[in-house]
Order: sequence, then C-alpha cells, then structure tokens
Amino acid sequence: MVARATRSAALSLAGAGRDVRRPGDFMATVACTRCSALVPEEQTFYDSEARLICGSCQAGVEVEELDARGQKALKSAALGALACGFIGFCCNPVGIVTLLGLSSAIGVVTGFGRQDDEFKSANGWVFAVAIVALIILVLQSLYLALQILGLGATLLSG
Ligand SMILES: [Zn+2]
Repeated sequence: MVARATRSAALSLAGAGRDVRRPGDFMATVACTRCSALVPEEQTFYDSEARLICGSCQAGVEVEELDARGQKALKSAALGALACGFIGFCCNPVGIVTLLGLSSAIGVVTGFGRQDDEFKSANGWVFAVAIVALIILVLQSLYLALQILGLGATLLSG
C-alpha cells in the first residue's frame, strides 16, 4: 500500500504541469503532413517550415539535409581543387597548394561515385571539373618534382 502511494505521488510529481496518460486513456493523434500517418501527438516533430511531421519523416528529413549538405560540399570542393590547380602555378609554397588541390580533387571523384543517379546526371560538371583539376594538379606535381630534382642537381654540381 505504501509502495503504491509512493508510486502515485511520483507520477503526480512527474506529471506536474501536464496530464499523465495511462494505457487505455484516449491518446490525441495527429496526421503527419508528409505521409499522413496518424501518430500520437507526443511523437511528432516540426520540419523547417513548421509543419507537423511524424518520427519516420523526421528521420528522412535529416537524411535529406545531410545529403544536400554533402552535395554542396562536393561542388565547392571541385571548384576549390580547380582553383588550387591555377593558384599552384603562381604561388605554391613547398607545393602545399598542389597537395590541397589533389586531396580535394580525389575526394570529389570518390565522393561523386557515392551520390544518387539524380545528382550525378544533373551535376556531371562537378565530376568533369574534378577530373580537369586532377590532370592539372598531377602535371603540376611532376613540374614541382622536376624543379626539386633540378635544384638538387644544381646544389650537387655547385
Ligand atoms: Zn510522416
């Protein structure tokens, strides 16, 4: 009896400010604005446009947002790699610009392969830019290597 009293006291404490629903009570359900599934009100979320959505749609939204962010990053990485290819010919302390560009370009080429077909067909230029950047950067690395070799030869002969 004591245990039960304690339990109900705990329940009323936990439920302070809101109604405590027990199994069998009426559960308020709302329809998800995306998939129109009926879900308990407590298990709903709001999307970026403040529409009520269910838990599984919320999970989907998170995945979509992650994908969009990854695809945006891929585009800027491709352009960044190409920029490195050009900047590397003008200003390239210890070849750092070439290295940065190479790692970006390789990241884009491998990352592009993991995207869905819709993105691939709409953004073929991202892949093309990364390949062009890769070619420029590989040539640039060879040029740098020759310079280093030349410098070494000069030092040895001098
Ligand atoms: Zn839903």
